[in-house]
Amino acid sequence: MKSKLDRLPRQDLIFLPTPLVALERLSAVLRGPRLFIKRDDLTGLGLGGNKTRKLEFLLGEAISQGCDCVITGGAMQSNHCRQTAAAAAAVGLGCHLALGGEEPGSVNGNLLLDRLFGAVVYWCGPDRKGERIPRIAQDLHAQGHKPYIIPYGGSDPVGAMGFVAAIGELKEQLACLEIEPDAVVFASSSGGTQAGMVVGMDLCDLDLPVIGIGVDKGEAGDLPYETWLATLAGQLASRLGMPERYTEARFDVRKGYVGGGYGVVGDLEREAISLAARHEGVLLDPVYTGRAMGGLIDLIRKGEFDRTKTVVFWHTGGTPALFAYAGDLMVGR
Ligand SMILES: *Cc1c(COP(=O)(O)O)cnc(C)c1O
Repeated sequence: MKSKLDRLPRQDLIFLPTPLVALERLSAVLRGPRLFIKRDDLTGLGLGGNKTRKLEFLLGEAISQGCDCVITGGAMQSNHCRQTAAAAAAVGLGCHLALGGEEPGSVNGNLLLDRLFGAVVYWCGPDRKGERIPRIAQDLHAQGHKPYIIPYGGSDPVGAMGFVAAIGELKEQLACLEIEPDAVVFASSSGGTQAGMVVGMDLCDLDLPVIGIGVDKGEAGDLPYETWLATLAGQLASRLGMPERYTEARFDVRKGYVGGGYGVVGDLEREAISLAARHEGVLLDPVYTGRAMGGLIDLIRKGEFDRTKTVVFWHTGGTPALFAYAGDLMVGR
């Protein structure tokens, strides 16, 4: 089954493996479990992040189909769109981005990088989840292009395969470091990361709980989020010829940390970002990893992970957005 994964079209984009290192000072400050961090903020291309793992498979597919450009969409400060723009530039494909909001007066953070990578940006107002992609695709077809559509967050059975593969990488690192963690914790939003990890655990025979910290309101379109995760996991397993079937119960998503909503920075994120920065020199981001670490810190304080436990925090990237949220991060300083 592993070889089925190895035979899928894949475009090399990442410096692998990303580091897995201990966070001893943060563990001590929190009087909590042994903490390790998986540094997918260091995937390398275009300032890094988890979407690059998905893009290896998505662009592999786009290239094998002979497409000349890609289209995707997201929020104005989308990390996924920025990494897509970088990846497209790296392989010589055009890149079209459907971004939420109206054109701002100044460019910053991920949006600045989208521009530098040469992406064409379409401003889509309230549609921040790629709703306008089909229309852009139609126009590009009419102009004689052959676009490859990458859905919101790159979370389809092609892109999510990147996180199935990532678990094989993690397994080797855990064996090298001789650690057996009690959980992997990370930011969960469009689902490809979580669905891919769960399927990857089954493919690799790794019995390691996968805990997503929900960063957005808990649904995917008109589906409850867990239903979407089970669907996506089922599609991944069937592409790999695995016998597993997935139900909602297999997906642990903690939804109590969305505060003021997607992308709204609060004390939870500010504290987590500050602790990781001051005690480890590690940068988290305001929208995803700051919230996920804030959630993990809360679980530690509530006793879910005591000093006898070991937890891997999967850093999914997003740090370029720090600069766009400077005002929110400096509150109370
Ligand atoms: C997209 C993203 C996530 C969430 O990953 P999904 O596969 O969409 O659930 C987490 N962290 C960062 C920094 C992201 O950009």
